[in-house]
Amino acid sequence: MASASSEEQIKKIVEQLRASFNAGKTRSKASRVKNLKAVLRLIKDHQEDIYDAVYKDLRKSPQETQNGEIDEVVNEAVHFLSEIDKVVDPQNVHDGSLILFGREAYIHRDPYGLCLIIGAWNYPIMLTLMVLVGAIATGNAAIIKPSELALATAELLERILPKYLDEDCYRIVNGGAEVAQTLLKQRFDHILYTGSQHVAKIVLRAAAEHLTPVTLELGGKSPVYVDNTVNVGVSAKRVAWAKLMNCGQTCIAPDYVLCHADVKEKFIEEVKKYMTQFYGENPKEHEDYGRIINERHFDRLNKLMESQKKNIVHGGKSDRTEKFIEPTVFDDITFSDQIMKEEIFGPLLPIVSVQGADEAIKLINSGEKPLALYVFTGDKRLHERFMKETSSGSLMFNELLIQATVPALPFGGVGHSGMGSYHGNFTLEALSHKKACIIDPRPVPSELVMGIRYPPFSKTKKNITSMLTKVYSKSERRFFYGIKLIIVVALMAVALKLVLA
Ligand code: NAD
Repeated sequence: MASASSEEQIKKIVEQLRASFNAGKTRSKASRVKNLKAVLRLIKDHQEDIYDAVYKDLRKSPQETQNGEIDEVVNEAVHFLSEIDKVVDPQNVHDGSLILFGREAYIHRDPYGLCLIIGAWNYPIMLTLMVLVGAIATGNAAIIKPSELALATAELLERILPKYLDEDCYRIVNGGAEVAQTLLKQRFDHILYTGSQHVAKIVLRAAAEHLTPVTLELGGKSPVYVDNTVNVGVSAKRVAWAKLMNCGQTCIAPDYVLCHADVKEKFIEEVKKYMTQFYGENPKEHEDYGRIINERHFDRLNKLMESQKKNIVHGGKSDRTEKFIEPTVFDDITFSDQIMKEEIFGPLLPIVSVQGADEAIKLINSGEKPLALYVFTGDKRLHERFMKETSSGSLMFNELLIQATVPALPFGGVGHSGMGSYHGNFTLEALSHKKACIIDPRPVPSELVMGIRYPPFSKTKKNITSMLTKVYSKSERRFFYGIKLIIVVALMAVALKLVLA
């Protein structure tokens, strides 16, 4: 892999990109718009190359690459192109406090500077380009370190990105863990890392050296609870689809199912039916069924499958030469089984029997906070219970995965599943600093009021200063607006009288 792997080369790239940011190359509205459009062009021109590269890495079908990766990046770019004024222009704020009387208050979104984007392999286009789109929209420069495990996509990005974006502002640096660690030794102004908890700790430690803020997009075990009040067929169909997308290698994939004992047999039968309906009797030959990313992950999954052999009720076949793992369902799993001790990240679906929502909530809360929690129920009272009694990156009722496609929703974890969030306007929170700005356009007349703050102090000055800085209640604010209105009307009446006189 052609890459800038030596420390000297990486230092030089960091210096170049920082210099470009400091020179203001990435900040203007015009340059942000130009670069967002360039990303859209890159995708349009290289759509087939992207399909091919992701297929080579994960045997992902073009439709999954389109819907799960390309569409996300395009939607994000279109979102920021249509919102660019709101992103770049200072936002006027006025909370009615007296201290702002006659002055202007703004929030200005400052780009952080130089961002480091470290991507994971399972969605190698979305986890790099979607963050890059956010970095461009917020006016940052960025270095992107794609995952070395999705090598074909990483190499494609390194080859095509410079044709569309200024390499002095946005750069792909390819390589493995050592390259990532060399990058992490440098000072960045923000790091957005996607991947495992283990590496997230390395990233966080390195960031602490430079007091660099981080967004950590991690994973973990995302549970599904299936209640006995739900349409079992639709629930099973949706769970089977979400589990097998990208061969189970999706961070928000359902990891395991807590199934109400009353409907468990039916649920398992329906899951088996849909798994077969989607990928046929022989999924190895099905053109839409993906593969495990590498031998290490294949061996890990195969071992998990072996350890639960007695529980297999569907599937169970594998082939190391092809990194193929059959969609597999396990019945009668308990929390002490090996398969419940780590994130599965593959097409294996364990089913745990529970007596109802109380037990499900208790079991969910006994583990780390999940990235996603899915509840299938026809009982509306459970909506509020799960919202209030559990904590997770996202919570969905009777649906799966689509939370990642809605720009109005934040995407991120909590606790061990992540830190911070992005997508849509939440990317602004992640990648820019909200700078508080106040403008006093007429400092001389405003001294008449503000002069009260200077020493020598007195009781009256203290009381008036408190009045100026006081946060007023809603009714007090209404009272002030009323007074203001009366003064304005009175002044207008006087002016009118003078004009007519
Ligand atoms: P990975 O192995 O591709 O690693 C991610 C990145 O970390 C890569 O760029 C890699 O080069 C770098 N890296 C690896 N070892 C390193 C080290 N020692 N020091 C510095 N950098 C290092 O991906 P992974 O970790 O296997 O990712 C899978 C995990 O990511 C799963 O837990 C999954 O749930 C999670 N994930 C989360 C999201 C999300 O958006 N929340 C998305 C995708 C994946």
